[in-house]
Amino acid sequence: MPTSKFHAMIHSKCPKCHIGNVFVGKVYSLHKQHMNDTCPYCGVKYEVEPGYFYAAMYVSYALSVAEIVTVSVAIAILTGSESPWSYLIGLAVTILVFAPFNFRYARLILLHFLTPKISYDPRYELAAEIGEKNNKNLEEDNNGINEIKK
Ligand SMILES: [Zn+2]
Repeated sequence: MPTSKFHAMIHSKCPKCHIGNVFVGKVYSLHKQHMNDTCPYCGVKYEVEPGYFYAAMYVSYALSVAEIVTVSVAIAILTGSESPWSYLIGLAVTILVFAPFNFRYARLILLHFLTPKISYDPRYELAAEIGEKNNKNLEEDNNGINEIKK
């Protein structure tokens, strides 16, 4: 069954096939995040034109603003503080904590929702499903053959 665009984006899957991983590794790890140049499954090139991911900065900016506003409101409601230091420290921590998340999801949102040159092709997922079914059938056939041999 074809997966939704949103589901594929959350799991950092390729915008074209929804199967290949766009990034190598997890969002939060000690290693630097590495993005594949092309999809390991369908081979689509993610950087559709030179410097394409500069556009992800705008998405990242929108994400940062949403996070900062949310945290500021939360600080105001939870602490009732009027000291600028509580906000400055809270926002600095927010920006640092969300930096890897923003880096990854800004690019994924850009690829999934703002890149008309890459569109979802359900044939990859359907082909993968049929392949899995055939493999299962083959395994069942092999089991049957093995049982007959016994
Ligand atoms: Zn792909």
